[in-house]
Order: sequence, then structure tokens, then C-alpha cells
Amino acid sequence: MSESMTSLERTLLTLDGKLPDRVPVDLHNFQMTARLMGATSFADFYRDGDAMAEGQIKAWERFGHDVLIVENGTAALAEACGVHVIYQDDAAPVAKEPAIKSLDDVDSLEVPDPYKVPVLAENLKATRRVVEAIGDRAFIIGRGDQGPFSLASEIRGMSDFMVDLALGEQPEKIHRLLDFCREVAYRYMLAQIEQGAHCTSIGDSPSGPDVISPRFYREYAYPHVKRLVDDLKAQGVRVAYHICGNSTPIIEEMVSTGATIVEIDQKADLRLSKAAAQGKTTLLGPVDPSGVLANGTPDDVMAKAREAIEILAPGGGFILGPGCALPDTTPDENIDALIDAAKRYGRYDRR
Ligand SMILES: [Zn+2]
Repeated sequence: MSESMTSLERTLLTLDGKLPDRVPVDLHNFQMTARLMGATSFADFYRDGDAMAEGQIKAWERFGHDVLIVENGTAALAEACGVHVIYQDDAAPVAKEPAIKSLDDVDSLEVPDPYKVPVLAENLKATRRVVEAIGDRAFIIGRGDQGPFSLASEIRGMSDFMVDLALGEQPEKIHRLLDFCREVAYRYMLAQIEQGAHCTSIGDSPSGPDVISPRFYREYAYPHVKRLVDDLKAQGVRVAYHICGNSTPIIEEMVSTGATIVEIDQKADLRLSKAAAQGKTTLLGPVDPSGVLANGTPDDVMAKAREAIEILAPGGGFILGPGCALPDTTPDENIDALIDAAKRYGRYDRR
């Protein structure tokens, strides 16, 4: 059955606070696209902008989701800043060795040119190719990961960064590192928009309550994300803000950054999140990617998606999707069930 509007129209209306025909659906499926493309080595796939774009386009042709998230994981900016990143054969790249040994080394870091560093240039190429192919019909998020706190934790090394925070002896140096990371992120996020993406994103899960206390979040993560969102919005750029894990204790702050989209997962309190977001931003999520989408049945997916729609969709401002990245093993029929749920239970034009 053909629908009355395109995915792009549906999503733009949603972000505008209006009611489209139904709830839009996103997929956070860069790992599934590697499998879809039959990549024997994910390591090669995630360094190849053409292949990543083709995987995204093929997945869109197969599933017909409204919102595409183009990325290669959570280590690209870190790699561009000198972090040693490991490319794995069967999973997303991960940060392995930090780029600096002490907070004093921050001044030696240089903001990378996203068009010159290969990993960033390939990601940008992927975005551009997807936009050229289907950007007139679907809503494309050119992922800007990582956010300032997340990038800082990779550049400094997660455990050392946690010690820096806990000791609290050099707050100005921590903020200097975060300032640098914010600049790196800003430059790359703008480059994503320069490829024609409709939106970019800040991924800052290491700053969530599952990892650090809300007090540290308010002191070290929030101010830099707020400034980043302000700077992007001053350029007319839409931005999504992703923190997975239980974000409920900081949901008010996440919304108050002014981000166009706030991404939540299955651990978040849906009612409190809805109350915080209503009329202010669009929530995206929150279906459990591993527990439900990768390992549940289509009926499980349908039930969880329906529950999310019932709580999060009223009044608009909601995009249904996974709470975080889908495992590459996620069955196609579960993705079909997710999209069917939006068509079945997420209609606004029949209410
Ligand atoms: Zn996540």
C-alpha cells in the first residue's frame, strides 16, 4: 500500500512539531549493512565510503525506513585525533590506545581536517553518496560521533579520564581537552551537513548515568554539548543527541541543550522522557536493540514498539527505532515488524 507522503516529508513534519500521517521509523543499522553487503571483513567495509553507502541504500530499498543513520561506529573522530583504533573482522571499530599520556599533552593535539583524514573522508563520502541516491525521499543523519566527552575519554583513555574526573585536581585542563574535542566535533559535524545530510549527531554515551554521575555530567559534559548545539543551530544545522543507558536522571538537561532530536533507549523511563520532551524536541528510540530486535521474535518487537508508540507518540515529536546500534545478526523479519508497528499503531491521521 502506498503512503500519502515521503519519508522525508513525514520526518520533517515530525521535527517541526506537527503530526504527519504516522510515526516515522529510523534504523541504527550500520552493522546490519555490513552483513547485508556480504562483507567478509567488516574491517575493510568500515573504511570504504562507497561500500558503506551501498549497504545503506540497499537496506533502505529492502526495509523502507524513514530515517537513515550513516556512520561507522564510535571511533572515527578518535582515530583522526591520533587514538589507535582496532578494526575488527566481525564488529565495529574500537578505540584501543589513547592519543595522550597526560592532560598536559592537550596542547599538542591538532584539529583534523575531515576532508583530509581518510577515515573521516570515507564516512563523508558515504553520507554524500546516500544523499545523492535517496536524500530527496528519506531523512539522512550524517553521524557526527563522538560528542566532546566521549571523544575526550577516547583521546585520554577511559580509565585515566575517569581518574582525572575523580581526582578533580585539574578541572581547567579537563575543560581544555573538552574544548578541543568540541572543536573537532563541530568541524566534522559541519562537514556532514556539507555533504547534504539533513541532520548530524552528537554521541556521548560515556557521559550518561550508567557511566558517570549526573554531577559530573553537569560539570563536564553538558556545558560542552550545550555550546556545540548552540554553535550548530546558529548555522541552521539540525542535530540529534544520543546517550544510551538510563538517561532519565539527566533527561531534562538533554532536552535543554536544544538538540533537534534526543535519542533514548529501553532503560529510560518513557513517561518521564515524554513529559520532559513534549513540545520541545523529538524523541528517537527506544526499542532494545539486542534483547528485543536482535534476539526476540517479531511478536516481541511488535509488542515493545506498540508500547513505545502508546507512550511516546501522542501529540507528535516521536521517531520509532532501536535505542542504539543494531547487532549485525538482527533478523530482517524483526525490522519488518518494527516498521509494521509504526504503520499499524503509529497513525496520526486516523485518531
Ligand atoms: Zn548507544
